[in-house]
Amino acid sequence: MSIQVFGLPVSRGVAIGRAVLVASSRVDVAHYFVIPDRVEHEILRLRDARDGVAHELQALKKELPAEAPTELAALLDVHLMLIHDESLTGATKAWIVDRHYNAEWALSAQLEVLARQFDEMDDPYLRERKADIEQVVERLLRELAGSAAGASPASPAAAKAMRDFAGEDPLVLVANDVAPADMMQFKRSIFTGFVTDVGGRTSHTAIVARSMDIPAVVGAREASRLIRQDDWLVIDGDVGVVIVNPSPIVLEEYRFRQRQSELERARLDRLRHTPAVTLDGELIELHANIELPADAAIALEAGAVGVGLFRSEFLFMNRGGALPGEDEQFEAYRDAVLALGGLPVTIRTVDVGADKPLERMSQQELRHEHGLNPALGLRAIRWSLSEPGMFRQQLRAILRASAFGKVRVLVPMVAQLAEVRLIFEALARARQQLDDAGRAYGHVEVGAMVEVPAAALLIGRFLRDFDFVSIGTNDLIQYTLAVDRADESVAHLYDPWHPAVLGLIHQTISAASAMGRGVSVCGEMAGDTAFTELLLAMGLRSFSMHPARIASVKQRVLRADTRPLKARLAAVLESDDPEAAMRNLGGDRATH
Ligand code: PEP
Ligand code: MG
Repeated sequence: MSIQVFGLPVSRGVAIGRAVLVASSRVDVAHYFVIPDRVEHEILRLRDARDGVAHELQALKKELPAEAPTELAALLDVHLMLIHDESLTGATKAWIVDRHYNAEWALSAQLEVLARQFDEMDDPYLRERKADIEQVVERLLRELAGSAAGASPASPAAAKAMRDFAGEDPLVLVANDVAPADMMQFKRSIFTGFVTDVGGRTSHTAIVARSMDIPAVVGAREASRLIRQDDWLVIDGDVGVVIVNPSPIVLEEYRFRQRQSELERARLDRLRHTPAVTLDGELIELHANIELPADAAIALEAGAVGVGLFRSEFLFMNRGGALPGEDEQFEAYRDAVLALGGLPVTIRTVDVGADKPLERMSQQELRHEHGLNPALGLRAIRWSLSEPGMFRQQLRAILRASAFGKVRVLVPMVAQLAEVRLIFEALARARQQLDDAGRAYGHVEVGAMVEVPAAALLIGRFLRDFDFVSIGTNDLIQYTLAVDRADESVAHLYDPWHPAVLGLIHQTISAASAMGRGVSVCGEMAGDTAFTELLLAMGLRSFSMHPARIASVKQRVLRADTRPLKARLAAVLESDDPEAAMRNLGGDRATH
């Protein structure tokens, strides 16, 4: 039977494919495909983990004090029995062999299958045995964590292996949540769409899905419970609905829409190398947001005139918490700079914390470890300033890369005037250290992200020191409206059209322009064509967005005339409903 699951539309388009479920486990696990050569190794890891846990359980049983209740020994026996049960380890092995899942993913996939079977049992005693399976799987996952080092992530080779195995059917990923680090693993894999139970419009999972330019629906609450492995799904990323096992007629309709958007995409593609100039002759810079050096080529290909935001924190992920050294970072930044061939590359210093944890941690665990409000906690520049050695190391790596092209440093989440002094002191020391070591570096402009209302309100003071600012609307909305950007339960309140948000953006653009300083927007609003004209009217001339959005925004720019827009700006900003006011403006233009 066909059912529909509703969520938030976060990445446009239509995807049709078979569901691949990434199970949610209490222990957050890595999910990646293993290349054929590693399948045997993965099975061995599973076997070793099973033997390790069996040994541990035997030892526990032996050490039980004489006065321990007999139920305890019986429970350990049940767990020992489960661990050798074919329905657990045998079936898990099948996921590795058939699907090329890594051992952890295979185990959690099988746990999901067994948990459903237990949930459907009539006998309450048997139903409760689900907890035993969960405990055993958790032990196995912990044991596996010890042998995770060196595991191969989803490399292009692994993606190809998976594609070969998957045959003709496209695959879509369904998960409770996908951590940003996991999204990076999937970036080069073969999924043609994403569905998650949790997340908001600008959660990092949504951002990475958009950067991959594949349809995604997040915050679909029950999706991973309702959808089963191998179900056929239609993901409608325009309206935020997932249709499970669609009827032939619905499927045909969506296939038609898919073809239409492919045609539209091909049409837009032709604009790639056309300069973005408005009808009244204003040249607009469209830059790209990237996550890895390899994305630099994609940015150029899309017609970007530079990188406006290199989210360096992704270099810090998927490495078990170990930080990349100075040379490794330098090489990554230099590669991006060289790929851009003289166009500017804006490297943001590491922005970890909140929904981009360094280690693999679930949101619950994060809340536990870092207090209730990680978004208000030790993240971004706050974290960097609390780790001065790490911060200077990153600054040295960025400075060294500036010897190879035009580099700008961008600091996330600046809110305090005292932070400004510390940032420039760290830069001065990093330069001194490079001088002492006889290392070359070039001139870098230093910019701040305007993501906290405090920075927007004191923009004039921040611009006494910074060369430029870049408005991070994703966080600016979150902090202005006190709405967690990753929390689907308040997603309806996350409103980029809110007059307070627009006021802060306008104020920042106006102040920076009046002071002759560079200003750009690098949050998701920059790539959303609903805001292109409004931002132009505010005086914005530099946008930074996912490469995949550049062509659509350029099309808007080419059709825009900033003069009438500017004349109507005050009315839009003063309106209680700026979105409607902007729509009316569109209507006016159409009739003139
Ligand atoms: C933003 O907050 O708008 C931004 C660009 O940074 P990030 O999305 O990485 O937090
Ligand atoms: Mg941000």
